[in-house]
Amino acid sequence: MADKPVSTTAKGPASGAPEATPPEAAKGVTQATIVKKTAPKSDYKPSDVSPQRRVQRHYTVRLWSVRHSRFLEWFYARFADTFLMLHPLWKAIGYGRVEGPIKFVEKRVKGFMFDCRMCGQCVLSSTGMSCPMNCPKQLRNGPCGGVRANGNCEVEPDMPCVWVKAWEGSRNMVHGDRILAVQKPVDQSLRETSAWLRVTALAAAEKEKAGA
Ligand code: SF4
Repeated sequence: MADKPVSTTAKGPASGAPEATPPEAAKGVTQATIVKKTAPKSDYKPSDVSPQRRVQRHYTVRLWSVRHSRFLEWFYARFADTFLMLHPLWKAIGYGRVEGPIKFVEKRVKGFMFDCRMCGQCVLSSTGMSCPMNCPKQLRNGPCGGVRANGNCEVEPDMPCVWVKAWEGSRNMVHGDRILAVQKPVDQSLRETSAWLRVTALAAAEKEKAGA
């Protein structure tokens, strides 16, 4: 009977002898577990959440906002009215002075709920409460042609397309057809400014003009 040919692949040992299987691998233990077990022990225990899972958790809040777009639309209308009522106060203090603290709050609240990128020209009311600035291409007027069959983004495959979600959210809203309006290109000079205050100042100016 002829001898079996000896493997001479690059991975194989130079001598041609069969490669020794690590005992852990033989027991079905994965490489990741081996690395984790052999890592130095320390008192500090980082939270056991990978960056990817952190992102997915973020999507959870974002998607909640889209699902509750009708309630948020109602809430924002009341919130905007209250801000407008406070216009004399903002004016007395100075819009420039209140910008800092208001922006601080706006950034955190909208960052948590919508992953807001502080473009300063909020269009959430017209996009089903799905922030279009989360689109990697920053498209402000609908999706690109690369939406995956499962409705996810072509650039970030784990992320639901913000425009697919925008359409879903808009269908729950009273003024959902605002999504059909064409949005202007982003004015980069307004980045990192408060959209809340800008909308309030514009509405107050219009009101004063109408009253004059
Ligand atoms: S549209 Fe602009 S202001 Fe509104 S949530 Fe998105 S980044 Fe923030």
